[in-house]
Amino acid sequence: MQAYGVFSRISLASTRTASLRISSLSRQFSSTSRIMAPISKETDYLVIGGGSGGLASARMAAGKFGTKAMIIEGGRLGGTCVNVGYVTSPLSETLDNTICVPKKVTFNAAMLAEMMHDAKAYGFSLEETKPFDFTGFKHKRDAYIKRLNGIYERNLNNDKVEYVRGWAKLISKNEVEVTMEDGTKENVRAKKILVAVGGNPTAFPSDIPGSDLGINSDGFFDIENLPKKVVLVGAGYIAVEFAGMFNALGTETHLFIRHQTFLRTFDPMIQEGVTNEYERLGVHLHKDSKQSKVEKDPATGKLAITYTDSNGEGKLEGVDHLIWAIGRTPATQDLGLDKAGVKTDEKGHIVADDYQNTNVENVYALGDVCGKAELTPVAIAAGRRLAERLFGPEQFRTAHLDYSNVPSVVFSHPEVGSIGLTEPQAEEKYGKENLTIYKTSFTAMYYAMMEPENKGPTKYKLICAGPEEKVVGLHIMGQGSGEMLQGFGVAMKMGATKKDFDSCVAIHPTSAEELVTLK
Ligand code: FAD
Ligand code: NDP
Repeated sequence: MQAYGVFSRISLASTRTASLRISSLSRQFSSTSRIMAPISKETDYLVIGGGSGGLASARMAAGKFGTKAMIIEGGRLGGTCVNVGYVTSPLSETLDNTICVPKKVTFNAAMLAEMMHDAKAYGFSLEETKPFDFTGFKHKRDAYIKRLNGIYERNLNNDKVEYVRGWAKLISKNEVEVTMEDGTKENVRAKKILVAVGGNPTAFPSDIPGSDLGINSDGFFDIENLPKKVVLVGAGYIAVEFAGMFNALGTETHLFIRHQTFLRTFDPMIQEGVTNEYERLGVHLHKDSKQSKVEKDPATGKLAITYTDSNGEGKLEGVDHLIWAIGRTPATQDLGLDKAGVKTDEKGHIVADDYQNTNVENVYALGDVCGKAELTPVAIAAGRRLAERLFGPEQFRTAHLDYSNVPSVVFSHPEVGSIGLTEPQAEEKYGKENLTIYKTSFTAMYYAMMEPENKGPTKYKLICAGPEEKVVGLHIMGQGSGEMLQGFGVAMKMGATKKDFDSCVAIHPTSAEELVTLK
């Protein structure tokens, strides 16, 4: 290993320049590498994956604790959240203040469409002289994302994290091979390695002929024109969020689910409440469904989907887009985990303990690749705690993320929020006899001016355990739930009881006040 450390640390005036420099250096060395020992770089903390978790961890390790850190990213910096669904505020130096782009921007457009409809009930005369300019909106959204990508590079540069553009593969427990943009390869050696490679949309079902005529959640953000008719398959966050947005924007929306309800990992009140509401709002729900064939009309380019659902057999024609949203798969294939001896579970997720340790010493994993609470703030928080524990002063030696009571919101119509245990989970953990359930269902004041058929539901539930009535589950569905949930997350993290909730004076007139006045 004569060439070990040849590249050592590259001072990044700009990471783009640096990456070009790395590429040209690697080209330069690859010609000689046939006669010399393999070329290597070295670092103390090597992070594979420049998404939410990897960026947060590398930046804290280098920027706060002065660790020699390197990040390897094969795609675009920012990962799934910035490029597909969720992003960190460009104004934030800390990665804490997150905003959701482009998913949340699209959700906002859908909300505006709903509010314009509602405004009529308040006496506004809104004449729709032109249809919604979806294409213009899409291009503006893309431009915003592009601006954000550059900010990630600058942040890495500010924190002195070395950024290598390429795809990494483990070749041992402390060495990776990186395939650079131009196809050249380099080896990097590290004292510690963090695997934060996230996941990808689950592949189209191979048993359905023509399934690959559809797209996945990545393709959703490439749609140029507002479709007239879409089909979504799936029952989780993504399918439900996308279906709600399309429907609110006026697209004929068909949602195919395998059971009677969707969002089945949520409390039954949420599952039933949102499923019923989607039907009321006009989403065509195909329950207990299965698709058998997808075809494309060569003349029109439109799709036809043959299926069965609870009403029998059917064929849906004239479909502009079929979107598969049937889960995500960890990006662990071809990562060389076997070469390092890193264990995965049956779904390919890396097995990591509460401290993000894998079974191999000095190899860590976090974020979506571990398959536990696949949310941006979870990956960020786990990344930071790990950097603190590995590189921070003594007081951080046991730092780790507590995965309990993680608040989560689905940007459905209406939004839903959830913290802690569902009712069935609480029954299993504490026993039905030890639980007190508080529930309410009402019409928010926002709908006061509307006709009965236009009024949406609001439903809240508190699950309390033991004689002290500790709040172990909180589930809300209704307008504004996304913004409401964070504060209740703090209360639950502090171990709040029903009495604590009740001792908080209500804010009137709001929907949230119902949560501190439940009887
Ligand atoms: P990622 O952000 O996926 O980053 C992994 C990175 O590793 C990628 O950039 C990838 O290119 C790179 N990589 C992979 N393999 C290699 C390799 N071999 N070498 C080099 N680089 C590699 N979460 C929320 O909290 N709120 C939301 O509203 C929300 N909306 C979402 C909407 C959609 C459509 C999707 C798909 C997800 C959404 N999420 C949301 C989930 C969130 O995006 C993820 O939980 C989060 O991005 C996980 O971060 P991560 O760091 O684990 O992985
Ligand atoms: P999810 O894992 O949430 O849901 C996928 C669901 O689709 C499954 O649970 C299953 O539900 C259904 N499904 C699976 N296979 C099929 C099939 N062949 N046909 C029909 N339905 C099928 O995955 P998503 O892709 O929706 O989202 C991935 C993750 O990303 C989420 O879990 C979440 O952590 C994160 N995310 C977070 C968001 C947020 O915070 N707002 C937004 C978007 C994503 P069933 O068993 O009921 O059929």
